[in-house]
Amino acid sequence: MKSFSEIIQQTEFSPEDLVRMLEADGDDRTLLFVQAEKVKKQTIGNKVYFRGLIEFSNICAKDCLYCGIRRSNEKVVRYEATDAEILDACRFAWQNRFGSVVLQSGELSSPTFVRRVDSLLKQIKELSNGELGVTLSCGEQSIETYRQWRESGAHRYLLRIESSNPELYQKIHPENDLHRFDRRLQALRDLKASDYQVGTGVMIGMPFQTIEDLANDLLFFKQLDVDMVGMGPYIEHEETPLYVYRHLLKSKQERFDLALKMVASLRLLMPDINIAAATALQAIDPAGREKALKIGANVIMPNLTPCDYRKEYQLYEDKPCLDEDAELCRNCLEARIGLAGCEIGYNEWGDSKHYEHRKRAEDPGRGFQSQPQSK
Ligand code: SAM
Ligand code: SF4
Repeated sequence: MKSFSEIIQQTEFSPEDLVRMLEADGDDRTLLFVQAEKVKKQTIGNKVYFRGLIEFSNICAKDCLYCGIRRSNEKVVRYEATDAEILDACRFAWQNRFGSVVLQSGELSSPTFVRRVDSLLKQIKELSNGELGVTLSCGEQSIETYRQWRESGAHRYLLRIESSNPELYQKIHPENDLHRFDRRLQALRDLKASDYQVGTGVMIGMPFQTIEDLANDLLFFKQLDVDMVGMGPYIEHEETPLYVYRHLLKSKQERFDLALKMVASLRLLMPDINIAAATALQAIDPAGREKALKIGANVIMPNLTPCDYRKEYQLYEDKPCLDEDAELCRNCLEARIGLAGCEIGYNEWGDSKHYEHRKRAEDPGRGFQSQPQSK
């Protein structure tokens, strides 16, 4: 049998190897983290990139059984930030040299919604002279919509698969056409075909989820050949149907630790992708995101959502930074990232190296959309 240090030196991993990595404790856990930190520094360097997160609307047509802003939660006050509010947040990001923003929302696919996002993309590009990179996270859409938004300036898209096990996916979603695993998968394929840098991810420590499921999730990311991953602990929310299964959950600390091991293992499996330090890590441990940056993640998403709206975008209990304004969040982040031994890539898009590598492999003569020169 392979020793643990032999396992983590590999570049290919079997499901059994990954299970051992996710179950590592004591010295093995330390070895895993040290190796992931080393591989990250060697492959993509030590920089951390900012994506200012703007949760611009909590109106959602879907009813995911885990999510605090699901359609059926009537306790949520629904909002839609105005264009001016969204553009102010973008201007803040641009002036503070964030490099990129993420526009995130509940899932709607009406023509009005599609047009609105399209118009916002154009306005963001205009206000920043094309300098601000834009990632979208607005759920499943038609390939035509994805293409339209790509043309209007979005170049990265986040759509978590939530679980790559179709049976588990079904258990955490209502059984209807709006919530089908194959639809989700098709949306991810459409995003790739529309030339986005594609990000996906899962929730870690959900009821009914096994370690084998998580090992397979990691292999799913590799098989789909994604450019970015954002994954964090599942955290229960009282006003959701999954709450009744909370007795099945690992402790929050265990879910947190498992999430760190997922990040470190993924860094070894896919050394050149971007990995986000999920906000949900911070809901469990105030220094959670910085811990993830140290052992493999390289992207962080400071919250720029206007403060009045944040309490209505509670996906799970104890979501952090609810009452801090954007400036305060930025200052505390700066100090903490320094403590994690990382450097901030100010004014940089920080695109996924993996995307560049895969595009070069597909078409060696092809040019790249590169970041415009900044101010
Ligand atoms: N509506 C879009 C979608 O679902 O892709 C984007 C917004 S959605 C709120 C963003 C992510 O929040 C989801 O992909 C899900 O993984 C995460 N999320 C929702 N409820 C959660 C919970 N209870 N614990 C942890 N993460 C959660
Ligand atoms: Fe809506 Fe996204 Fe929450 Fe599902 S996870 S209910 S699509 S906001």
